[in-house]
Amino acid sequence: MHYAKNILETIGNTPLVKLNKLTAELPCLVLAKYETFNPGNSVKDRMALKMVEAAEASGDLKPGGTIIEGTSGNTGMGLALVAIVKGYKMVCVISDKQSKEKIDILKAVGCEVVVCPTDVAPDDPQSYYSTSKRLAQETPNSWYVNQYDNPANAEAHFESTGPEIWEQTAGKITHFIAGVGTGGTISGVGKYLKMKNPDIKIWGVDTYGSVFKKYHETRIFDENEIYPYITEGIGEDILPKNVDFKIIDGFTKVTDKDAAVYTQRLAKEEGFFLGNSAGAAIKGLLQLKEHFKEGDVVVILFHDHGSRYVGKMYNDNWMREKGFID
Ligand code: PMP
Repeated sequence: MHYAKNILETIGNTPLVKLNKLTAELPCLVLAKYETFNPGNSVKDRMALKMVEAAEASGDLKPGGTIIEGTSGNTGMGLALVAIVKGYKMVCVISDKQSKEKIDILKAVGCEVVVCPTDVAPDDPQSYYSTSKRLAQETPNSWYVNQYDNPANAEAHFESTGPEIWEQTAGKITHFIAGVGTGGTISGVGKYLKMKNPDIKIWGVDTYGSVFKKYHETRIFDENEIYPYITEGIGEDILPKNVDFKIIDGFTKVTDKDAAVYTQRLAKEEGFFLGNSAGAAIKGLLQLKEHFKEGDVVVILFHDHGSRYVGKMYNDNWMREKGFID
């Protein structure tokens, strides 16, 4: 018999899938690391498990404790699965720009969800950063995960996602492209790949309204770069410790409209039903096309699943309301 002893054992070993239509104009092979296949439908299951294991080992998380995290949904889902199997309580602090589907899904897997306003500064007491820290101080036997600065986040990708991509491409990968939020994915995968072959290029996809690209190019944290945007999961108004700017060769920024339109195109033209950070990532990859030549093997990572966005990028009324389609 072959079976997993619990749902956590099904995390990782996701497929690598060739893109065909959207990348037809490119001279290279483009392969998607398709993270939807994780049990929580996102790449975040990997780091959720690793962060909890690290906190158990350090004694920060004790039996029967409460896990508290500020999360846009996917990390919350991953942590919820870990909490269920390992017997912890899970509280997710989420910003009000996140889709209703994400909040409903978190509740479905037993999380308590606290919703905070998006349009406040990170140090505002109402922000989801401040609220999650305050709840962690007030709740007995609790542990605040802090995925932005928790080193186990990037380590999970150094130990699993990176080696999987290296093996699946038989070491032929030349470029890795991923959207950047906490930075865990790109920094962990990028560090592993560059250790194997320093010539591999690592590109981050950023949003307009986020500080990453400007900071990477100038080392200046420019507050003028910060304004509200629609794309979920990528871009930040802070510099998380998990973004390793030295590992990243460059950033490209994608508009909210392009991210939404390309999310629909991935679904309709490739059969890839994904979240809108995937739309941003593939548009970012196409923006970088002059960097690719024949024989290159370009891997793009798709973080999550389309079900969380059915009321948004997959809803033409919403797309029209935002001015993204006529
Ligand atoms: N896309 C989605 C949908 C996400 O939830 C996240 C996580 N914030 C990312 C991209 C970015 O991944 P990372 O935090 O590892 O940079």
